[in-house]
Amino acid sequence: MLYLDDTFVHLGRPQCIWRNVPFDWATATAANGGTSLADSSAERTLSQRTRPPPTRRLAPVPGSCLAAATSRPCEPQAILCSSHRLLLLSLSFFPCCLSNILMAAFAPSVPGWPAAVHPLATGGSAGRRRASVAVVASRASAGRLRMNAAEGGAGAPPVTVSRSGVEVHHFSPAVEALENEGAYAMMARAADIAKSPGPPVVHLEIGQPSYPTPPHITAAAIAALSAGATKYSPPAGIPALRAAIAAHVSSTRGVDVHPEQVVVGPGAKPGLLLALLALVRAPGDVVIIPDPGFPSYAAAVSLAGGVPIRVPVGPAGYDIPALRRAARGEAGRCVAIIVNSPGNPTGCVLGRAACESVAAVAIEADAFVLSDEIYSGLVYEGQPGEAPYTSMLSLPGMAARTVLVDGFSKTFAMTGWRLGYAVCPPYLADRMSLLLVHAVGCTATFVQHAGVAALVGLANGEDAALQGMRADYRRRRDAVVTGLNAIEGVSAAVPGGAFYVWADVSAFSEWGYTAAELASMLLEEGRVAVLPGTDFGPGGEGYLRLSYVGEDDEVLEGVARIKTVLDRLRSAG
Ligand code: PMP
Repeated sequence: MLYLDDTFVHLGRPQCIWRNVPFDWATATAANGGTSLADSSAERTLSQRTRPPPTRRLAPVPGSCLAAATSRPCEPQAILCSSHRLLLLSLSFFPCCLSNILMAAFAPSVPGWPAAVHPLATGGSAGRRRASVAVVASRASAGRLRMNAAEGGAGAPPVTVSRSGVEVHHFSPAVEALENEGAYAMMARAADIAKSPGPPVVHLEIGQPSYPTPPHITAAAIAALSAGATKYSPPAGIPALRAAIAAHVSSTRGVDVHPEQVVVGPGAKPGLLLALLALVRAPGDVVIIPDPGFPSYAAAVSLAGGVPIRVPVGPAGYDIPALRRAARGEAGRCVAIIVNSPGNPTGCVLGRAACESVAAVAIEADAFVLSDEIYSGLVYEGQPGEAPYTSMLSLPGMAARTVLVDGFSKTFAMTGWRLGYAVCPPYLADRMSLLLVHAVGCTATFVQHAGVAALVGLANGEDAALQGMRADYRRRRDAVVTGLNAIEGVSAAVPGGAFYVWADVSAFSEWGYTAAELASMLLEEGRVAVLPGTDFGPGGEGYLRLSYVGEDDEVLEGVARIKTVLDRLRSAG
């Protein structure tokens, strides 16, 4: 394990020998976003291979962290630094603080692993130090340290190998922290369960329309392919699509949008990530995300170098006092607030007042709003007496600080086509376009032609397929909500949009069941796949998310199976 974040003093020369494998400390440190400082006296220590090494500390240099690796040459050692504190793992040190005790608890089980952790630097709270040690310890427990240059090639990340021979490769902290989206993980588990004897698994976990893409859209893609639309396109999209998106957003949101504000990407997700890459200007910049909220938000913020701060959302949107506190900058400068309406996982549609409150906080904090409107085409009813749907982009003063993210996946049943877009001020669109150049080049050209057909068709009233899907979803939503509310211990509000029901199962916590446990039991016992609310953040404890994109009878069968399992759990106490 090597975890080289801020400043790392390597052993005197860029290429040092570790278990006879050349390893470039400077490069590895730089690859982790750190700074590598050569320490020639440490080099001398390393060169005295025949004598036992002296235990040696370097005084922290003001403004940076320094460490010297002082263990026996060729023994495994690892150094973990941060701007506030530094931990040196070495056989030469002995436990003397909580972090050491933690490490000592893990180290003996790991052959050749350093026996102790020693914090050299002062500064940083005990809490932070403990957090760091937890990282060290959990990695330590994964296995003994080994440089994998020989196996993985020069520049390959370090790897730990467990006793059973399982290799764990290590990457940058943001990449290591990535987790799969809960829905993908649950789909994989459901596929495993489906192999065991029993009735087919009912899928209520996937947020993907079961309908085929409307035929006129598919026909446009085929025609574009036949006409040779198989080359690169301009990175931000073909002019016809940018113009069609500008016209669509202008008419659906009641604002004046121009094509140069539009950036087309492969799906809505790139719009989120690229906007964040542009907006997070310094490590530690805060982006506020909804809790519960779509799992990619936290991941994208972290990848962009920001800090995701979760703020509770309920049926009326963000808890505004909590949002204001988070945006005030105590945890770091707030650069953006993510809003998602209609929302995943709750299906809630924000009313105008809720949107205006968020806008006021964003303006006060001088922050952007990333308005994820991917479900804007699936609104069944909004707030009484209001237009069914309010976009953050349409509020006074917000066009200059909103990135609207939308796409074709949900509204047009085009998840696999990968087509989405962002609408934002032109100066930001230009930067996002540059990011696209380097990330993906452009979005598939014939797919963009299909997008033009979808939007132009919609503008010309070619919306029978979409109306049909919406009517089906609405009918299923009502049936699912009714079915769930008939189960004792479950309650579900009627969501105004998207295709999810957010079912409150907190009553089952009385018997000690968490949302994750309930979801597992439903899958294993009832062969029905749903997502635990905690897949969307800690605020999802006590909830399950059900997606009603399947056929009517499948969805109802799923609800019936949920009832059977939960009734049994309740009666078993
Ligand atoms: N935002 C939300 C809230 C979503 O639920 C999803 C898809 N599940 C996306 C964005 C991503 O959409 P796309 O597939 O177009 O990238």
